[in-house]
This record gives sequence, C-alpha cells and structure tokens, in this order.
Amino acid sequence: MYSFGDEELAAVARVIEGGTLFRYAPGACEAVSFERELATRFRLGHALLVSSGTAALICSLEALEIGPGDEVIVPAYGFIADPLAVLAVGAVPIVCEIDNSLTLDPHDLTCKISPRTRAIIAIHMNGFPCDMDKVSSIARKRSLYLVEDVCQAIGGSFQGQMLGTFADLAVLSFNQHKILTAGEGGAVLTARRELWERAFIGHDGSCGNSDVALTEALFAGLAFRASEITAAILRVQLRKLNAILISLRRSRDLTVDALSARCNLREAPCHDSAGACGTHIAYRFGSPEETERFCRIAGEEGFEAYRGNLYWHSYQEWTLLHERRGAHHPLRDPLRMSRQSYSFDDCPRTREILDHTALLACGTSFVSTSVTRLAERLAAVGL
Ligand SMILES: *Cc1c(COP(=O)(O)O)cnc(C)c1O
Repeated sequence: MYSFGDEELAAVARVIEGGTLFRYAPGACEAVSFERELATRFRLGHALLVSSGTAALICSLEALEIGPGDEVIVPAYGFIADPLAVLAVGAVPIVCEIDNSLTLDPHDLTCKISPRTRAIIAIHMNGFPCDMDKVSSIARKRSLYLVEDVCQAIGGSFQGQMLGTFADLAVLSFNQHKILTAGEGGAVLTARRELWERAFIGHDGSCGNSDVALTEALFAGLAFRASEITAAILRVQLRKLNAILISLRRSRDLTVDALSARCNLREAPCHDSAGACGTHIAYRFGSPEETERFCRIAGEEGFEAYRGNLYWHSYQEWTLLHERRGAHHPLRDPLRMSRQSYSFDDCPRTREILDHTALLACGTSFVSTSVTRLAERLAAVGL
C-alpha cells in the first residue's frame, strides 16, 4: 500500500450507506464507473474488474479460447499465479529464461515456441518493462497471442507507450502488495469487445442473468466478481496513480544517486528506466554471497531487500510443477495428459541471474539520513 487512508474510508462509507454492494444491484455504479475510468486511463476500449490478478489471467486465457493441448510460455521469474492460470484453463505452461533485465529473454522465447504454443505471457516484473518491441514482434511473426501481466507495473511504460497496451489482453492485480490496491482485486484490459465479452462471461458464469448485452455465446464461467466496495476504493486509488508514480520514481532516483555516490553498486540493465515504475532498484553483484550481504545490511537498516528467487517469484520454487500436480484431480491435470516435466535445472541462466541480483524496495518517501547510513555501511564492507 503506497497511499491509503481517509479518501478510501469515505468511499467505503458512501457504498455502505447506499446499501448497494453488488455490481448488478439496482443503482450500483462503482464497478461500471471504475471499469470506464480504468479503460480511459489506459486509452483502451474495455476493462473488466475481477476478484484477483489470478482471476484476470484465467479470464484472459478463456477469452483467447486457450485450453487442453495448448502451451503458453511464461517467464521463469514471475509469479506462480501465471503458470497456475495456464493450468486452470487446461493448458501447459512452458517456462522461459529471463535475461539480465529480469524480463523474458527474447532468444530463449523463440526457442521455447513449439507447434502447440498458442500464447506468450510477458510479465513486467518489479515494474521493469519487458522489451515490448522484440516480444510483440515475435508474437506477431509466429501468430501467437500476447498477454501482458502488468500486476507489478501499473502505470509503467515502454518507449512512451503504457504497459498493458501492447498485447491482446493485459491483466492487473490490486492485492495489498501492488501499486494500486483494495486488499484484493484484479482487472482485464483489452481493445477488443469480443475478448472483453468472453472475459466477462468467464468471470461470471451467471451473467446470462444480468442485463449486460452480449453477442458472444455463453459458456460455463465461474464467479470472479468484485464488490462495489472494492470498486469504490479502486476509483480513489486510480486517481492517485500519477502522484504515487511520481513519489516512487523520485525516491528511486534519489536512492540510486545517494548509494552510487558512496558505493560501487551496479544496476541491472533496464529496457526503459524512465518508464519503470520505481517500486524497486535491481542491483547486480559478483557473487551470491555479496548479494546476500547487501540484503542483510539493507534489512538491518530498515530497508526491504531480497533476492529474486523468493516469494514464489522464481520457477525454482514452483514445486507443484516439479512434482507434476497440475490440478485437484488427475483427469483434470494438464500435466498428466502431456509429457511436459519441470525441474530446478530448467533455466540455469535465470537461476544464475537471480542468485546475483538484489531487489531494493523504494517506497514513496525518501529519507535521506537512512539512505546515507545504508550507503556508509555498504561502503564499509566494500560494496
Ligand atoms: C500479484 C501478481 C499476480 C496475481 O495477483 P493476485 O491478485 O494475487 O491473484 C500475477 N502476476 C504477478 C506478476 C503478480 O505480481
């Protein structure tokens, strides 16, 4: 949570006093308004509010009619939600190496494409933009769908174009750790009405009962709806997006300057530093021990710093894939139906990069004295 307080409280109070908590209830306006405001912010035709980023991924893959027999490429550094969503629609996730930018490696991406590949999920991890020139052109040349996972990069851009606007569909998450939050929540964005309709049907199997006009055929969707309370909070959060990004980027820039004045730290390369969200600085080290030392000292000084292979962000920790447990029942398990297997050794390059990279969280407020202290302590141990 970067900015949360009185205005969100007032929005929640307004909804509760009005007594309309359900998006289809007479007089409900928060979900529909949020969707319109979000679509406008991204200059895209359509947005759908759902209950989580994972739900947004599932609805996006359903919108693209991806299912059994299909493969979807996901980066080895991302979040387990992405392969889980692929499995949830009956398809098989294929894990692809990242490069030094911590995003999809275009070379390995090309190598991982098979005759069964239907889609690529590009994740802008820690607010760092993927090289959308290269990734989009690979998707286009090989006639693959492209989904952008913007869960950690809301408001970021690549070469001046907003992240989330390059692909067939984009997904956002509003869980507590994201740039905008309502505790939980997610969204699907797309320029195409038919994809929005299919995502809408996927997010609400009972939507045939609503008065939303649909031309796409109904199919068995689930219940990933979000409440009017969530939507009301997110409307406030969306209005704060610019201010949040300005403070994050300012705090990042000042931190980089203060640390580089005293230390020998090397930043990981980024495809567009100005377009990155500023939630994190990625530093590269010569050894895993140095990376650990940096994280430990930063932690002792009150900063949040961690190696990339934590928090289910790395394929190395996706043990349910390694153990081939892709569903609650073997007959619904896409991994049992395919020969695909996974191991710790699948992406050695990603492992090497993550072992040598520390992510320093920036936050929205820069405290000069704490950063100076951190710089002095790092310099004292030769970092
Ligand atoms: C948070 C996140 C998700 C999933 O979001 P939930 O809302 O927790 O389901 C998906 N992908 C990435 C990269 C994320 O960081």
